[in-house]
Amino acid sequence: MLADEDRIFTNLYGHHDWTLEGARQRGAWMGTREFIDAGRNWITSEVKASGLRGRGGGGFPTGLKWTFMPPENPDRPNYLLVNADESEPGTCKDREILRHDPHHLVEGCLLAGRAIDAHLAFVYIRGEFVRERQRFEATVEQAYDARLIGKNNLHGWDFDIAVHHGAGAYICGEETALMESLEGKKGQPRLRPPFLANVGVYGNPTTINNAESIAVVPEILRRSGAWFSSLGRPNNAGTKLFCVSGHINRPAVFEEEMGVSFEEMIEKHCGGVRGGWDNLLAVIPGGGSMPCVPGDRIRNAYMDYDGMREVGSSLGSAAAIVMDKSTDIIRAIWRLSAFYKHESCGQCTPCREGTGWIERIMARMVEGRAQKREIDMLFEVTKQIEGHTICGLGEAASWPVQGLIRNFRHVIEDRIDSYTFRSDDDVVPTFAAE
Ligand code: SF4
Repeated sequence: MLADEDRIFTNLYGHHDWTLEGARQRGAWMGTREFIDAGRNWITSEVKASGLRGRGGGGFPTGLKWTFMPPENPDRPNYLLVNADESEPGTCKDREILRHDPHHLVEGCLLAGRAIDAHLAFVYIRGEFVRERQRFEATVEQAYDARLIGKNNLHGWDFDIAVHHGAGAYICGEETALMESLEGKKGQPRLRPPFLANVGVYGNPTTINNAESIAVVPEILRRSGAWFSSLGRPNNAGTKLFCVSGHINRPAVFEEEMGVSFEEMIEKHCGGVRGGWDNLLAVIPGGGSMPCVPGDRIRNAYMDYDGMREVGSSLGSAAAIVMDKSTDIIRAIWRLSAFYKHESCGQCTPCREGTGWIERIMARMVEGRAQKREIDMLFEVTKQIEGHTICGLGEAASWPVQGLIRNFRHVIEDRIDSYTFRSDDDVVPTFAAE
């Protein structure tokens, strides 16, 4: 369990002053000049030593990612791109940083910029986050006014921040689609290679990091990489913002040590499961795109990358959606299928067509108007999408359905068995007929 003094985000609930003055009182912008003077290699090695892994869902080591960036070249400037396009169902953690602790992010941009030899950062904010964008713009302005960033700033590293407001498409959270959107094009993912550290925004070397990954960097440097890595389990270090929604007594966003057990986390921060632990049906532990885990399996699981893999899911963005036994789990997963169908950008045939197939079959399964052999066919459809698309939306649409079939096949079969209006005419169309 995380001790109070180890918390990085000390104004997560907005109880204190978010402005520069308040942030400074809580320790922000302390020692920044020394970190900048220590140089690129020092910052990178501290972040590597901290064991920080990408907080957006990918879990790629942040320090290692920075080392892919080439040295400074005036003809091809390096860019930092911060992904605050938080759109994953259930995820609402970056939002709290943007509106309540925004100076962590501004300072983090400067330090990460130094670590990758970038003098310009773009912060891409989700379209629906209007107030959050206004708050963050005001924060950037405060930093400019106080000469913390900008040309000839107090820290000796010229650095600009450009805030970009998205238009509300989920797929723009995918890093290459985010770049396309930033460049003013349709937000559609790009094929890789070329990789972003070589050809990124406007064709220049670019590193993309999640907003939370960047916002924790200043405190890691202030307290040391060794401090951060001492929290959590090996390979799963540090603290993390969790967002828990659904059937718990107190839905909440909070900072906790990685590797906390699910039960401890829910009891401490969320007041327990609605109706008690025996009433827990399932949990989607990492945002809407992750497979659900039955309640009895997740109760004692570790909430970190390895812990969630051991129970057949993934930590993702650490957005846990808790479902009690009043939940129609087939309908809940169908709703996610409808979301991913709607958000598919349509470039790849398996995703464009497959997400529609999934949604239509799932809609029938909600009613029980299906045949049992279709359960395996549906699973096969998801396998044909997974890994055969340009971006991760193919997996995002497939994994929830796979989790449903793996863990709740009996519920689907019972629903089919109890379908009461079946007649000879009520033949379920085959895939070919559809
Ligand atoms: Fe677009 Fe889907 Fe292909 Fe991603 S997987 S590029 S969202 S069609």
